[in-house]
Amino acid sequence: TLAAELKDMSPEKLLAPVLSAFWDEDRSWTLDVYRRHDGYEGLRKALAMTPDDVIAYVKDSGLRGRGGAGFPTGMKWQFIPQGDGKPHYLVVNADESEPGTCKDIPLLLANPHSLIEGMIIACYAIRSSHAFIYLRGEVVPVLRRLHSAVREAYAAGLLGENILGSGLDLDITVHAGAGAYICGEETALLDSLEGRRGQPRLRPPFPAVAGLYACPTVVNNVESIASVPAIMQRGKEWFRSMGSEKSPGFTLYSLSGHVASPGQYEAPLGITLRQLLEMSGGMRPGHRLKFWTPGGSSTPMFTDEHLDVPLDYEGVGAAGSMLGTKALQCFDETTCVVRAVTRWTEFYAHESCGKCTPCREGTYWLVQLLRDIEAGKGQMSDLDKLNDIADNINGKSFCALGDGAASPIFSSLKYFREEYEQHITGRGCPFDPAKSTAWA
Ligand code: NAD
Ligand code: SF4
Repeated sequence: TLAAELKDMSPEKLLAPVLSAFWDEDRSWTLDVYRRHDGYEGLRKALAMTPDDVIAYVKDSGLRGRGGAGFPTGMKWQFIPQGDGKPHYLVVNADESEPGTCKDIPLLLANPHSLIEGMIIACYAIRSSHAFIYLRGEVVPVLRRLHSAVREAYAAGLLGENILGSGLDLDITVHAGAGAYICGEETALLDSLEGRRGQPRLRPPFPAVAGLYACPTVVNNVESIASVPAIMQRGKEWFRSMGSEKSPGFTLYSLSGHVASPGQYEAPLGITLRQLLEMSGGMRPGHRLKFWTPGGSSTPMFTDEHLDVPLDYEGVGAAGSMLGTKALQCFDETTCVVRAVTRWTEFYAHESCGKCTPCREGTYWLVQLLRDIEAGKGQMSDLDKLNDIADNINGKSFCALGDGAASPIFSSLKYFREEYEQHITGRGCPFDPAKSTAWA
């Protein structure tokens, strides 16, 4: 099986640079360089097919959303009703802000045309003539690069009217958000794009039915859309030859924390953290892995016992976590789990939009308890309280931010309860912060 093949592959064979193939090249972000690497050839192939066939092709490739949830991309496109007389929109979610997640930003900086080409293909498929990129507001260099790539595409006749003589008209608007984590939640993003305060909407209706300006809208992650041109150009069989059966293809893994060589590693889905560490030089010298996240802090943490879990939706799910954004944050034995969880929880409390009570109030109280425990002022009964509050947030909040905030509490108590107890009985943190670089 593919999974067995992956297990035995050498690190060199595992690296599958597609999106990142020419990131190191001089002016990699320009149209000239992109074209030299077969850029916009996938679009030509797509335009020779019918829109419905393009949707079926992407569906057959097995591409799953790379923003975290892994929803099948082709199926999402297929949800857009046809002949409804309403405008259809494509909105690219470039509001990357899950802690530890840093793959879309470098992709946009180094290879923005892969996204633009993917957007044109997607808009042709869903019959949309206006697409938006909602970018995280803080990353001004990316904003400039996107504007320049869009300008290049217009000048080359790849955007605007009658693209490549196909009859397709398409405009792309690049919009910078104002730096709120919640605006990465797709419906809050749509509210923000419409000019309102970004807060999640009730789903259903999903955006595919009533999205931007209440019209059918596909909201896709940057990496998902940027993966489409290569699939069209090299074929769905080529894409399916990588990864695992239910999670095919290549993807970007973001390796960070106490590792020797942090960065983006492009490899098939279904490889393991052990393999990724082998190919990237391992943990920093003289240290060992203590805990890690498979997909940012919203996904329950793993320990060194989980090094061989296949990094695909099924493998990580079966081991009790979620693949999420594939942000592999690795912490070594110098890191205090209580401190790490406190920092994450402070982030969720700060970013909670306040719309629903379990998350707004719960994250506040989690922070108070965690700070007390970390400062040596906690009591044993606080551990049950932490669990109880997280339980009242998880599954009872309005959007996924609440569940994400509860994740590190549950998993840290499951794997490192003793470390919490040590803080309480020892009246303080047993770790020397000077020895850890995690919080520098
Ligand atoms: P979800 O599973 O509810 O939805 C995933 C996608 O599928 C959405 O686009 C949704 O509209 C669509 N969908 C689901 N069911 C549908 C249906 N029946 N009909 C039509 N469309 C349907 O996940 P979510 O709440 O949108 O996102 C949670 C994920 O976001 C988490 O996995 C997390 O890892 C990730 N996340 C990512 C970041 C980041 O920076 N990239 C930040 C925070 C969270
Ligand atoms: Fe807002 Fe948190 Fe409720 Fe989501 S879970 S709607 S972020 S208060």
